[in-house]
Amino acid sequence: MKEVVKAEEGEVFDIELEADLLKANKELAEENRELLRKHGVAAIDIMGSIGAGKTSLIEKLVQLLKEKYRIAVFKGDLTTTIDAELIARHSVEVVPINTGKECHLDANLVRKALQEIDLNNLDLLFIENVGNLICPAEFPLGSEKRAVVISVTEGPYMVVKHPFIFIDADVVVINKADLAQAMKVDAKKLGTDVERINPNSKVAVTNCRSGEGVRKVVEALGL
Ligand code: MG
Ligand code: ZN
Repeated sequence: MKEVVKAEEGEVFDIELEADLLKANKELAEENRELLRKHGVAAIDIMGSIGAGKTSLIEKLVQLLKEKYRIAVFKGDLTTTIDAELIARHSVEVVPINTGKECHLDANLVRKALQEIDLNNLDLLFIENVGNLICPAEFPLGSEKRAVVISVTEGPYMVVKHPFIFIDADVVVINKADLAQAMKVDAKKLGTDVERINPNSKVAVTNCRSGEGVRKVVEALGL
């Protein structure tokens, strides 16, 4: 095998433009954080690949928590409102956010969505990001906690291959545990991979279809 071709610092196109963009996003995220704090709203990001189970997790969390908290959900997607409609069935406020071609939510889109809801009548906000394991890590939205959902169907090396998304994650959900055997993937090993990258994260193993393990996610999120 030949040497790995690497993008060196400064070699990536538009590096300055990117630095400006990330800085602007960070400032807006701080404003969002301040606004949410002022209204006593706990916001939680839900990140993960397409099909990992982010929406299923949110549906189960909403079912478990909607008697205890006033909940709203922001649902990021490129162009559709399919997931937003699934969540809205549980009679919570849902704001769909369509990013167009953008593969992640940013703090500006979240700021605009925050204008759509009554923060005085809210305790808890889930923000489901666009399905993507790469850039959401670089775009803070202003939330209090960040959760990453992964599934055993993404293979045994998915954690070690995408370390950055886990570095700042408060909670990591390993989903589709019921399929682990068929996929020949060890959910526990995925958990130890996460703990190696981020010893502060809390790991919960779930089957979000049946709801198994979701109470552990509630605990891990401190809800
Ligand atoms: Mg989804
Ligand atoms: Zn992106």
